Amino acid sequence: MAPQSIIALAGNPNAGKTTLFNSLTGSRQHVGNYPGVTVEKKEGVYLCDGTPLRIVDLPGTYSLTAYSVEEVVARDFLVNDRPQVIVNIVDAANLERNLYLTCQFLELGIPLVIALNMIDVAKDRGIEIDAARLSQLLGLPVLPIIARSGQGTADLMREAARLATHQQEWQPRRLSYGEDLDQILMEMEARITAAGLLTDTHPARWLAIKYLENDEQIMAMGRRADPDCAAALADMATRVTDHLQATVATYPEAMIADHRYGYIKSILRQGVMSHAYDTDRLYTSDRIDRVLTNRFLGPVCMVAVLLALYHVTFTYSQLPVEWLSDLFDWLAATVTALVPAGPLRSLLVAGIIKGVGGVLGFVPLILLMFMGIAFLEDSGYLARVAFMMDRIFRAFGLHGSSVMPYIVSGGIAGGCAVPGVMATRTLRSPKERMATLLTVPFMNCGAKLPVLALLTSIFFAAHQAQILLLLTLLAWGMALLAAKFLRLTVLRGEATPFVMELPPYRLPTFKGLLIHTWEKTWQYIRKAGTVILGISILLWAMMTYPGLPAATTAQFAAQRATALAAASPAVVTEYQQSGRANLSPVARQLAARLVAIDNQQSEEALRHSLAGRFGIALETLTWLPGFDWRTNIALVGGFAAKEIIISTLGTAYSLGEVNREETGSLAKTLARSPHWSPLTAMALIVFIMFYSPCFATVVCIAREASWKWSLFSMAFNTTLAFLLATLVYRLGSLCLAL
Ligand code: GDP
Ligand code: MG
Repeated sequence: MAPQSIIALAGNPNAGKTTLFNSLTGSRQHVGNYPGVTVEKKEGVYLCDGTPLRIVDLPGTYSLTAYSVEEVVARDFLVNDRPQVIVNIVDAANLERNLYLTCQFLELGIPLVIALNMIDVAKDRGIEIDAARLSQLLGLPVLPIIARSGQGTADLMREAARLATHQQEWQPRRLSYGEDLDQILMEMEARITAAGLLTDTHPARWLAIKYLENDEQIMAMGRRADPDCAAALADMATRVTDHLQATVATYPEAMIADHRYGYIKSILRQGVMSHAYDTDRLYTSDRIDRVLTNRFLGPVCMVAVLLALYHVTFTYSQLPVEWLSDLFDWLAATVTALVPAGPLRSLLVAGIIKGVGGVLGFVPLILLMFMGIAFLEDSGYLARVAFMMDRIFRAFGLHGSSVMPYIVSGGIAGGCAVPGVMATRTLRSPKERMATLLTVPFMNCGAKLPVLALLTSIFFAAHQAQILLLLTLLAWGMALLAAKFLRLTVLRGEATPFVMELPPYRLPTFKGLLIHTWEKTWQYIRKAGTVILGISILLWAMMTYPGLPAATTAQFAAQRATALAAASPAVVTEYQQSGRANLSPVARQLAARLVAIDNQQSEEALRHSLAGRFGIALETLTWLPGFDWRTNIALVGGFAAKEIIISTLGTAYSLGEVNREETGSLAKTLARSPHWSPLTAMALIVFIMFYSPCFATVVCIAREASWKWSLFSMAFNTTLAFLLATLVYRLGSLCLAL
């Protein structure tokens, strides 16, 4: 009777495969060659509690790339013959190097059992391995054996047989390879899946990784199967290779290997391995990590790093931000002088220059922030931040792998929740993934950052860096609390163990920093020039039309006429003829009166506009957190994109006061406005931080989860933000009143 299940023995050379194979199969073995190559193929039969299992001894390999015939034979056998289970024999005395191959089996997704061999040798060398802990962290069965004496092999095979009878789908594991590679891998994977390129045998992400590793054999297979798709993939691989060369002077293969080793290291350092004899072989990276990821010093260093980053960003961006703001003021004044009053001027000045200019004005700040973050990321420090956060995250029902999505979304300031939501794909547990996905929009993304910077620069100028640090901590705190709440209610479930990649520290190259910084800054600028511009114009129209009824306009005209009639003819002539700078006191009074009437009229027009009426209607709710109707318009607009909050405030306040003599930047206008105080600003900041994710994020959540969750996220976040902002405003008012 032909045995049904194939069990493949795989592992590094000299891990003990042949020893195990011989002890399992005894005389029931057959030696031949793999078809087409002279690599020895051994097959045999093992009786597991009476059930025969076909055992195949694969050639020993260190990896599954196409570097050697053995590697190609091994992986071709795996994908073509589809053994039910791999028994991965791992040399316990060289665990770190041996697990490298294991990573690649994980990515292939074949059911895997780890045979932790040579535990006797390891013990002799003073290495103690906690197999249960290793099994928990890897999410795989790990069974300690001594192949030479046969100890533990019966249990091992029983476990393998158990897995083999469970005919399961391959479940490829997704390791993270850093932001650059993950991004392109995602795109390549989508492309491969769409084209169905070799996907009947290979997992899509695995194929994409092979393209990045420049695997000739896979690339040739790809070309034969679908030349167009293969060419596109090769292009993408070349693009990211050039990019890595330019930024960190390395190749994707090296980057991938680094991350695999990082993954292994972080498993091993979580109590899996203990050395009885202290090995003095600490590498520089490990030595730095002794301080930077120390349980007590680590968090202190982290807060110091953040504070320094914020401080540098605010300090050095202040002047250029002012210059840009002056530049846009000058532009507005010039256009006002050149274009006759009317809808066109209003559109240009209030809609476009104030709207888009307000957003573009923050480019220096964004640029510096991105540069700082690029430095932290390229140096490898961000991975350590994630590593340290794990303990805290677990207490809140999240996963260590949730940290990276948080950081991508703006956990440090200035990211974006869209890639953040997509980055949650590396989480294996669906509930932990949902909890992460729903809370990443709480981070201070690059669109919220200018709004926060603007408000803090007006009302808390002396402590901007400290306030931003506080807001960062608040964002993380609320995100964790919300996650805990979700995990206790709608997303109840088990926690899964955490393994985090710790790549070695690297000194970032200057060129690399510039490229990373510029890419993100350019995205910000491009968004301002496209999406923000479009929505600004739309909102301007909604804030301008339908205009005042004729009767009201006539009333204002009458008021003006009365003011002119009340003044003596000489004063009127002086007012009409001379420039506004050198008026006599009486004429200046007349001018002020007329400006006041104009302002009243434009405010009335704004109130009467579509957006104005909506904003006023919302005041029935927003009086609680202290938002006026202009702010309401900005907040509703902010749903389209959070930058819109600045541009809409800019438009709203400039529409309301087109004729004010000293029209200045939004910052000056808000600082002057009687409605605004540090308390209103703080309540608004809190609301902006936590209310509904922007439209793009909502769509992304729908794609990654479902529309139900998108709607949930909008409602949940807005309610939370409203409660928090009300709390801040009302408690603050109380405290101030005392
Ligand atoms: P392969 O290259 O993976 O087929 O490895 P082999 O089965 O040829 O084993 C390599 C060497 O390790 C041989 O000398 C084995 O006797 C020895 N060996 C295998 N398993 C054990 C074990 O559990 N303990 C010890 N001490 N030696 C082992
Ligand atoms: Mg052998």
